[in-house]
Amino acid sequence: MTEGVRLVMLGRQGAGKGTQAIRLAQHYVVPHISTGDMLRAAVAAGTEFGLKAKEVMDAGGLVSDDIMVGVVDERLHQSDTTGRGYILDGFPRTVAQAESLAAITADRPLEVVVNLEVPEDVVAERITKRRVCRTCGHIYSVDAPPKHGWICDVDGGEVVQRADDTAEAVRKRLDLYAAETLPLVPFYAERGLLVEIDGLGSTDEVFERIFAAIDARR
Ligand code: ADP
Repeated sequence: MTEGVRLVMLGRQGAGKGTQAIRLAQHYVVPHISTGDMLRAAVAAGTEFGLKAKEVMDAGGLVSDDIMVGVVDERLHQSDTTGRGYILDGFPRTVAQAESLAAITADRPLEVVVNLEVPEDVVAERITKRRVCRTCGHIYSVDAPPKHGWICDVDGGEVVQRADDTAEAVRKRLDLYAAETLPLVPFYAERGLLVEIDGLGSTDEVFERIFAAIDARR
């Protein structure tokens, strides 16, 4: 079997981060840990925590660092990640979260941080066209829909537009990304972990670029 990997995916909303994270997880046989998917699962389950998170998410805000760090800390101590590794998607999103992640993973440190670079005007269009499977999170687009209606090819779930993919929430998320998450690029560059990848092109082309960059570091 291929070696596992401990990897963080960074990239603006709509950069294709989730799609590539799922493929990387399949390739390296490690869990895809998407904090957005975990939060949406809590919302779907109707827990008290989910209801609180939903308000923040629908407005395009960020859930508090304390809560997110708690969620990820717990997930990264489950045996599937302690063994082969993980693809973290959507975490860290702030420097405080990145510092907590370093503490959580001190005994099995992060190996690589992939920053998927796609210009803002391109992502805005991609997000408005984005559709996702309600149950498995698989990502589609109005330009690349599932084979049969809006039914997921992977698990038969309903494919919908996310509640926070409205124009207003998207603008807020992009602004927050620039203010809170972009500082992680120099943060990880200083630590020698950053790989910058051009996110323009087909999903296959982008995947090959990421894969080659990870391979070159080994
Ligand atoms: P996107 O990258 O398109 O914004 P995600 O699916 O990663 O979407 O996250 C959806 C929402 O969940 C975010 O807008 C935010 O409200 C919340 N969220 C996810 N991950 C985090 C995190 N690490 N810290 C704070 N909030 C988060």
